[in-house]
Amino acid sequence: MQALSELTSMRVGGVPASITRCSTREELITAAKSIWATGENWMVLGGGTNCVFGADISSLHVLKVETTGIEKQVLQAKQVWKIPAGVDWDELVAEAVSEGLAGIEGMSGIPGTCGAAPVQNIGAYGQELSDVFLRAEFLDYESGELVILEPKDLKFGYRDSAIKRGRAGIITWIELELIDLEGLSRPLYSGQIAGALNSQMGEHVKLTDLRDAVLKLRAAKGMVLDPNDPNSVSCGSFFTNPIVSDSFARTISSDAPRWETQEDDGLTVKLSAAWLIEQAGIGKDFSLPGSHAAISSKHALAIVNKGGATGEQIAELARFIQERVAAKFGINLVPEPNLIGFRN
Ligand SMILES: Cc1cc2nc3c(=O)[nH]c(=O)nc-3n(C[C@H](O)[C@H](O)[C@H](O)COP(=O)(O)OP(=O)(O)OC[C@H]3O[C@@H](n4cnc5c(N)ncnc54)[C@H](O)[C@@H]3O)c2cc1C
Repeated sequence: MQALSELTSMRVGGVPASITRCSTREELITAAKSIWATGENWMVLGGGTNCVFGADISSLHVLKVETTGIEKQVLQAKQVWKIPAGVDWDELVAEAVSEGLAGIEGMSGIPGTCGAAPVQNIGAYGQELSDVFLRAEFLDYESGELVILEPKDLKFGYRDSAIKRGRAGIITWIELELIDLEGLSRPLYSGQIAGALNSQMGEHVKLTDLRDAVLKLRAAKGMVLDPNDPNSVSCGSFFTNPIVSDSFARTISSDAPRWETQEDDGLTVKLSAAWLIEQAGIGKDFSLPGSHAAISSKHALAIVNKGGATGEQIAELARFIQERVAAKFGINLVPEPNLIGFRN
């Protein structure tokens, strides 16, 4: 059997109790129900790009989702696509862009599967999955039933959803609404992308230009999976950008990059986790003595496996960063990837 290091972008993790590859929805449902009936530990794995495995996985049963085959419904000036969970996210974006459909172009280059996309409400450069998400089919672990989840059930937040917060089960397909703007993108909502395209915020640009610009920017940060880039042996950003109260944000140096956000409890401010990490004295390429885990040489927010790292070394570096940032700023950085099989 394969080790999970071969099925994950961080390339850590040993051999689990079992790996069941499911290439149809029916196989996935049957395999899940039969593992659930045993009461043993289980998890569902897509592309393995947001999981870090520790040493304690020998009793874990892994359901690997490999379902494909998009169904497209053409409506006036928009299309509704029903996408099996195993479809590769960036292949989906490429297909939407090539068909002139807007809504997910800013999320070009995010690795992983479509079934995992709602789990942390993936997002980049001003777009989030929740902007286009209609519903998903979900095999619910508690009831054993198939249910349809709508946005209100998933309670999407910034890199967050009800599933990420613990609702157990498996997404079998998702349904997204894509709009036809005659080859143009949604209005630009990212200063970085607008700058790269010599455009203004709010402008519509050619979908293909936007996709190219995003992929270029991401590659410069080591944020696309590239076998030739050692910085992409990672889970992308290791921490979410912390959201703090407006009054707390005023206590942080005015040089700190910040974005105002509106939460239920009033005005809040999103700070840059990368900036906080660098200001806490942890720069690019940093690693602890004797460890094979390091900060990416392209982006302070990514932890990379330099070759031969263990999950524990990745977690140790993450804890060190959290302690440094907490000591300097009083902010607890929250890891974005899922840490599985760690003893504490
Ligand atoms: C280089 C790089 C760049 C990245 N950039 C971004 C970015 O810009 N924005 C962003 O949001 N993320 C980013 N990520 C993180 C990652 O790509 C996303 O979280 C992605 O959605 C993970 O997909 P996956 O299939 O690999 O999930 P996995 O790692 O396989 O699983 C992640 C979690 O989802 C659960 N899961 C997987 N499939 C299902 C399913 N069908 N039903 C229920 N639960 C499921 C798993 O159990 C696990 O808890 C990046 C990662 C890398 C390596």
